[in-house]
Amino acid sequence: MALELPYSLSPSKVSTFTDCALAFRFSSIDHLPEPPSAPATKGTLVHAALERLFVLPAEQRTMPAALTALDQAIDVIRDDPEFIELDLDDTAEVAFLDDAEQLVRRYFELEDPTTITPIGIELKLEASVGDLRLRGIIDRLELDADGGLVVTDYKTGKVPHQNYEQGKLGGVHFYALLCERLFGQRPAKVQLLYLAEPVAIITTPTEQSIRGLERKVSAIWTAVERACTAEDFRPRPSKLCDWCAFQAYCPAFGGDPDSAKAASIQPDSTKDVPVDLVASPG
Ligand code: SF4
Repeated sequence: MALELPYSLSPSKVSTFTDCALAFRFSSIDHLPEPPSAPATKGTLVHAALERLFVLPAEQRTMPAALTALDQAIDVIRDDPEFIELDLDDTAEVAFLDDAEQLVRRYFELEDPTTITPIGIELKLEASVGDLRLRGIIDRLELDADGGLVVTDYKTGKVPHQNYEQGKLGGVHFYALLCERLFGQRPAKVQLLYLAEPVAIITTPTEQSIRGLERKVSAIWTAVERACTAEDFRPRPSKLCDWCAFQAYCPAFGGDPDSAKAASIQPDSTKDVPVDLVASPG
């Protein structure tokens, strides 16, 4: 019996399938739960603080306002299972919150938020390429001085090694493709803001880069369909296994992939929220 196809592809799913098809199956088809990690939860917190900052009128987007936004986001995340399950002791919690504050402070070294014209924050987008649905969440969509679209993605991890940089930029082109499909306009710029360094990686999407991404995701979808039909998702051991939450089910670590079905959970239906346009790029 064939495995059920995932509903859609996102930049993270494309990246997971490319890195290891079996990890993709565990995550996107078996829906195995993954324990929260401090770096990912810290990222969630910093994103929430910057989201609150950009809801403010431009002239109010100051450092003190950002730190107030962070305090408000901390109050909310304290009740979130993602944070509670980290089970941080007092020392670890102080370090966690201090790191988050440093990331928010360093954001101001990358740009002046009072000069930004956002038209969408945490924007959930969906578009089709043939039978394939593509989904992504854009941290911030804004207009530049010439009315062009700019996609901004905040990153709270390290700048990727050169070997992995193309993978990260693949996500950038994914967002550009979504914008082109939904707004009929190719973004003038897509930028990844690595807050920890802080460093901005900026790229200009081209016809060639977007068509290349379109071909790549179509090929990946075909490979996913074949793997589902044949129930054949193979492990691809690499350095990434050190961070993989599915080692217990992975044959590369002595596990049995079939036992994963018993541990699967229903997907979170809130992740299937459709297009969520805040404003038209008009
Ligand atoms: S442990 Fe490694 S090989 Fe196994 S599923 Fe995870 S990433 Fe793939």
